[in-house]
Amino acid sequence: MATIFTKIVNGEIPCYKVAEDEKFFAFLDINPVAKGHTLVIPKVEDDYIFHLDEETYIGLHLFAKKVAAAVEKAIPCKRIGEVVLGLEVPHTHIHLIPLNQESDVDFKKPKLKLTDEEMKQIAASIAKNF
Ligand code: AMP
Repeated sequence: MATIFTKIVNGEIPCYKVAEDEKFFAFLDINPVAKGHTLVIPKVEDDYIFHLDEETYIGLHLFAKKVAAAVEKAIPCKRIGEVVLGLEVPHTHIHLIPLNQESDVDFKKPKLKLTDEEMKQIAASIAKNF
């Protein structure tokens, strides 16, 4: 069965898309820990990042680097943090999180509540800078 992220790539489930190429895809995390919290995924399904073949692993990171640069231009912050958890969704993803302080990467704190319009604006702003 396809993962929820494959359904997003295929357009079967909506998302706030920020970037895409032939093999990789980026969209806003629906429960952001910070404004501009973005997920970067390979289109190919693999649960565990360290099980990716080398080409996909390197390609994912090069794509994430480009997305991070766009997030950094769109969202004022000190830098972009990169986190890999993968405990919830079994489809490799890198979290890119705009950081101003260490607590911005605390996944236990309450998530931000952003409106649909705010999420659309953030995604559009990152996409424009990609
Ligand atoms: P983890 O697998 O532990 O890295 O957590 C999965 C992440 O995916 C969480 O931060 C969720 O908020 C996010 N997530 C789950 N479903 C969606 C979705 N449909 N669209 C965007 N983000 C999602």
